[in-house]
Amino acid sequence: MSKNPTTRRLKNGTKSSTNTSEITPIKRKRVAKPKNTLNNEGHNQTDDIEDLLKFNDKEIADIRASLLGWYDKNKRDLPWRRLNDDDGDKKAYGVWVSEVMLQQTRVATVIDYYDRWMKKWPSLHHLSLASLEEVNEMWAGLGYYRRARYLLEGAKKIVEDRGSFPRTVSSLMKVPGIGDYTAGAIASIAFNEVVPVVDGNVVRVLARLKAISTNPKDRVTVKKSLAGQLVDPFRPGEFNQALMELGATICTPSSPSCSECPVSVQCHALSLSHQGGLVTDYPQKVVKTKQRNEFSAVCVVEISESRTLLEGEQGTKRYLLVKRPNEGLLAGLWEFPSVLLRQDSEISVRRKAIDDFLKVSFNLDAKKTCKVILREEVGEYLHIFSHIRLKMYVEYLIINIKGSLVWKCVEYKDLSSMGLTSGVRKVYTMVQKFKENSLITDTAQVSEQTKSRKRR
Ligand code: SF4
Repeated sequence: MSKNPTTRRLKNGTKSSTNTSEITPIKRKRVAKPKNTLNNEGHNQTDDIEDLLKFNDKEIADIRASLLGWYDKNKRDLPWRRLNDDDGDKKAYGVWVSEVMLQQTRVATVIDYYDRWMKKWPSLHHLSLASLEEVNEMWAGLGYYRRARYLLEGAKKIVEDRGSFPRTVSSLMKVPGIGDYTAGAIASIAFNEVVPVVDGNVVRVLARLKAISTNPKDRVTVKKSLAGQLVDPFRPGEFNQALMELGATICTPSSPSCSECPVSVQCHALSLSHQGGLVTDYPQKVVKTKQRNEFSAVCVVEISESRTLLEGEQGTKRYLLVKRPNEGLLAGLWEFPSVLLRQDSEISVRRKAIDDFLKVSFNLDAKKTCKVILREEVGEYLHIFSHIRLKMYVEYLIINIKGSLVWKCVEYKDLSSMGLTSGVRKVYTMVQKFKENSLITDTAQVSEQTKSRKRR
């Protein structure tokens, strides 16, 4: 049961409060009329609560007509909207990929990723034949790689089970990684099922239309009670897109353009704002959970065939990458060897942690199995995840191996095209810069000293 109170401004500008649980309409239990709850206008507050969760027939008809008319004229030209309506499976696949990408980042960024993805895997069948490494590589930079893995697993499952896309929300939700939101988007846009789709944009628009300052995370209230009433029975997919588009382009979180809004006449938040207050008071802002700080030591290990820094510049360079566990943060992705530290630590502690890790995991021991040619601190980098602030201390280690060991080695030329996370890429860019700025000068000096020794 939510502890967040739901607050609505009444027509006289005062606020009425109730518990979110009281207005959740799923069971449609009539809330018992509390005693002495008449407001200043003589209306019972229970009636206000009921009103909050209902559009009347005229409102529904007007909102549908205005919104669809506006969408037809103003919708953005996006690649997944150009897919042929007659090919449901192809459309469903495009909607699925684009919706999952859009959960990660902005439309402008998604377009490029989407185009490249569709070029490589133009159909569900093509995707089902891809490897996880290929998918991760294509996804690199979007973050939250579990979503990419689910796309692959989902494609495999659909192809194995039936070969064509499930067409309803209930059947779509049996596919790995397809949840309520994505299922609604696919079913309504590709197969015309009359179901609502509720993302953050839709929650905001509906909360403002009805002047509800409920916790936006409480999407059940908004979805079942409000969005479901509005979906156009003849154009459900376009209506859902129109509502999302309105939230993304006009009814934005901090500066809505109410003067350009096609549903401003039906908007209670706008009408209440004329008596004081702001439309942006709706919906209530969610207090973000605090991110925790973590610290890690990262070591970019370059394996050289040469035994000196000078020789190494000409020889083959290989890099050691470690696969992360299949569960948890960045599951199953490759990264440079790294160790999570208990706390922010000095260089000696970090190096010991890395030494222990390399020794235990790869039998790399500077005293026995390899020779250290260079070991330098490169710098530190703060990587922000939704719930973690990870400070990474990066060092660069060049070694020459004395025996034979088994691990993943990557050619220098292949490293840039691998499916590495943006954090790993950032670390590698730091090392490249470090090499450009420091090692070239050092190498030139060593070379000069060698020549000078030879001359003597
Ligand atoms: S009138 Fe303003 S606040 Fe209301 S839905 Fe339109 S843009 Fe949003």
